[in-house]
Amino acid sequence: MTAVDEQTDVRIGGGAPERLADRMYHDLLSPDEIRDVRARVRASSDKVVAPVAARIANGDERTDGFPRDAFDGLASEGLFRLPFPKDVGGDGLAHPATATAVIVEELAYHSNSVAAIFDVHCILAGNALNQGSPEQRERWLRPLVEGEFIGAFATSEPGASSDLSPDAVTTEAVFDGGDWVLNGRKRWITNSVVAGVVVVLARTGSRLSTFIVPTNTPGVTVGTPDRKLGNRGQITADVVLDDVRLSPEYLLGSEGGGLKIALQTLTYGRIGIAAAGVGMAQAALDHTVAHLKSRHAFGGPLGGKQHWQFLMADRTTEIEVARDLYLKAALRLDAGIPFPEPEAAMAKLFGTRLAVDIARDAVQAFGGLGFTYQRGADDAQGPVEAIYRDSKIGEIYEGANEVQKWVIARQLFGREVTG
Ligand SMILES: Cc1cc2nc3c(=O)[nH]c(=O)nc-3n(C[C@H](O)[C@H](O)[C@H](O)COP(=O)(O)OP(=O)(O)OC[C@H]3O[C@@H](n4cnc5c(N)ncnc54)[C@H](O)[C@@H]3O)c2cc1C
Repeated sequence: MTAVDEQTDVRIGGGAPERLADRMYHDLLSPDEIRDVRARVRASSDKVVAPVAARIANGDERTDGFPRDAFDGLASEGLFRLPFPKDVGGDGLAHPATATAVIVEELAYHSNSVAAIFDVHCILAGNALNQGSPEQRERWLRPLVEGEFIGAFATSEPGASSDLSPDAVTTEAVFDGGDWVLNGRKRWITNSVVAGVVVVLARTGSRLSTFIVPTNTPGVTVGTPDRKLGNRGQITADVVLDDVRLSPEYLLGSEGGGLKIALQTLTYGRIGIAAAGVGMAQAALDHTVAHLKSRHAFGGPLGGKQHWQFLMADRTTEIEVARDLYLKAALRLDAGIPFPEPEAAMAKLFGTRLAVDIARDAVQAFGGLGFTYQRGADDAQGPVEAIYRDSKIGEIYEGANEVQKWVIARQLFGREVTG
């Protein structure tokens, strides 16, 4: 091993970098309850997610499958209970949305795949089911809270995703006098390969409705997992519905009320995706600052160069803003505002773009090691290349960032101008 390798080995082989947020971020927004949740979840994420993060990040969706060990670990740490009320077995926190977003940040710090699994299970499927009848919540939400089965949420289709208007959605549910009969194809559905239940958005006449679709219902088929740039532990696949018959108690909410449930759920979801961006951004920053302090070039540490000092100062400032934004959006949601805009859209736009920006800086700062996921000399894992790959999806899903700008612009100009 060369002298240069010795200088970098601490960061590549193991040794977690300093959590800079502990010194640089002073949380004046979060209630005490939330600070306790962050401390607890950080310990769980360090214990359950960190040891398997590299395996998950570099797996192949079709052969490695779903990271069941991580999912079961989150369940046994009680993390699926934190977002939900007591009547379905949850912890009944006063600020469940804020707690949920903080959990997503702490999971994404080690693995954006695991954060996404949690996000879809709890925020998308769980939040949608939480809007069901008492019987539906007891039957479907309680086992989800316990981690007894996995939840999925399906709005996207081959021809519709950003646009979820009734004209664009082609999955259809027709009431035949006794049952709803569903036909259609959903695309990119996270967790679907392993899910027990999928919440499905479908057209009913000229409006949209949501349905609880158990994956073992005759006529439900889940396709081959997609192979993706990143988030390889977040298994996605098509869900095909072929004359799926469901009795009326599988309609979630009111007939025609599906778009409202979907949009409210996706608004909550975008706060989670914002928090995931902050988690990845913080991880990339922590690794990069540690590297810049100890990697030497031209007679001193790279961190001695003003270029890197200024860049890291800018990025640290941006993380501060991004974290405050998602906490503010989540706290407004917890205050009973179902569509906490413009903050939710701002948080998602800013936090996910920041993750991509810092991941790119991190790869650059690590040089060749930034581009490496496994070093030939000793099989050590490169610390930032997975963040570079995983961060990109945040700008795309749960409302592409262009849609977030549209949401913000709508509030500036009014719908009559923006459409
Ligand atoms: C890893 C992964 C997991 C996913 N999980 C789920 C899931 O669990 N459930 C689910 O239902 N879906 C899921 N999706 C689908 C995801 O939500 C969509 O891919 C996303 O909403 C974008 O839709 P689209 O791919 O159809 O792109 P399109 O709607 O075709 O949009 C393409 C691009 O066009 C631009 N665009 C769109 N609208 C506008 C506009 N108004 N103005 C300007 N530009 C615009 C945006 O840049 C957008 O990125 C997942 C996707 C991936 C990749």
